[in-house]
Amino acid sequence: MEQKDLMEKIVSLCKRRGFVFPGSEIYGGMANSWDYGSLGVELKNNIKQLWWKRFVQQRDDVVGLDAALIMNPKVWEASGHLATFTDPLVECNKCHARFREDQINTSAPCESCKSKDGFSEPKMFNLMFKTFIGPSEDQTSIAYFRPETAQAMFVQFKNVLDTTRKKLPFGIAQVGKAFRNEITPGNFVFRTREFEQMEIEYFFAPPKDDEEWNAQFELWKQAMIDWMKNDLKFDMSHVHELEVAKEDLAHYSKRTIDFEYEFPFGKKELYGLAYRTDFDLSNHEKASGQELKYTDPETNEKFVPHVIEPTWGVDRTILAVLCEHYREEGEEEKKRVYLKLPPRLAPYKVAVFPLLKNKPELVEKARAIYNELKEHHMVAWDDRGNVGKRYYSQDEVGTPFCITVDFDTLENDTVTVRDRDTAEQERIATADLVSYFANKLS
Ligand code: ATP
Repeated sequence: MEQKDLMEKIVSLCKRRGFVFPGSEIYGGMANSWDYGSLGVELKNNIKQLWWKRFVQQRDDVVGLDAALIMNPKVWEASGHLATFTDPLVECNKCHARFREDQINTSAPCESCKSKDGFSEPKMFNLMFKTFIGPSEDQTSIAYFRPETAQAMFVQFKNVLDTTRKKLPFGIAQVGKAFRNEITPGNFVFRTREFEQMEIEYFFAPPKDDEEWNAQFELWKQAMIDWMKNDLKFDMSHVHELEVAKEDLAHYSKRTIDFEYEFPFGKKELYGLAYRTDFDLSNHEKASGQELKYTDPETNEKFVPHVIEPTWGVDRTILAVLCEHYREEGEEEKKRVYLKLPPRLAPYKVAVFPLLKNKPELVEKARAIYNELKEHHMVAWDDRGNVGKRYYSQDEVGTPFCITVDFDTLENDTVTVRDRDTAEQERIATADLVSYFANKLS
């Protein structure tokens, strides 16, 4: 399958089946804004919950936080975002279309109007969304929507430390929205102006040498690889590590790795991992006048911790998961499309069908099974068309198992369970279904 076709197929499937809709569509849409529909929100929640479980609940050394989207503007002054969270903006001299200078070839014709009139000098454009707090719209009421979730973890460092009594090394995790006034959003949910991040700030004592912080860095690199391999079930040959060159490092970073994924539109950043030194805590300490130090309980030594930041984009994860697990098999009538989603990510785990919808005894039995399984899993109900069509429909949204209640069920209390990936069917006793799926979906 051509990569361009894959992208079109995914965008179309997302719309048709309620994963992702164009934003504000009845008003002609709003460029590059997307809304998650009924199945999209399930997939997204499953990703966030799985992440939270792995990186917060199953670890002793990471705790959670959920901070406000709009913080005191002084935060962004201290973090350096007001001064340096910028992209170089150039404008076509003819049609005035705007581009990020680092994303185009400024000696080539304009991508938009094809003219060769060239581009303006680059202007640094700050990506933070501005708003006003309260009724007056003046300089003193300006505030910003957070461009990353990270800063709240630094700003709340002391409160978290005091209330959890964690010892170094430990981390603070947050999942939530971030806003960036991107110059050129695009590629579906890959680059939007409003998106979600899952981030951890992992604090440790000032390292004695490069080896010490690199050891922490490598642990987190491996944790990110394990997430992609074991939880998202990526073929890791689709993921590439890019060591960001010294001259391209962000103002706060001493080392950064980008994990790039082979999206249909090219190899692009999926996740990042950065060693931010003590840059953020030190700056917030200076700017706020509040001490943000840690006292070692054994040596009584006081210091500002250093930090490693692994960061995951939720929306890019969704796109990569869809690209990774989209399957087309067979030809013509035999052709089937399915999402080979890891069961934990699938919006529905099981679908239940009565063989015929005009046979009340089948419907009643199927309803009873549906209601019981709903106590344990997200379950779909389908009684439209024939069983073949229902399989097709569930395959397309990645439901791992379908149950059909037929006339044999009424005789011997067994049902047909069909596996999404193999399309094979087996008979299972109704009484065993709960344990069967507990086992299969664990
Ligand atoms: P890019 O170079 O693609 O602009 P970035 O290096 O600025 O990304 P980070 O600041 O490291 O991105 O943000 C962390 C993560 O947040 C990224 O790895 C990505 O998954 C996600 N992300 C960043 N910007 C966007 C966006 N505009 N839309 C969707 N996800 C984003």
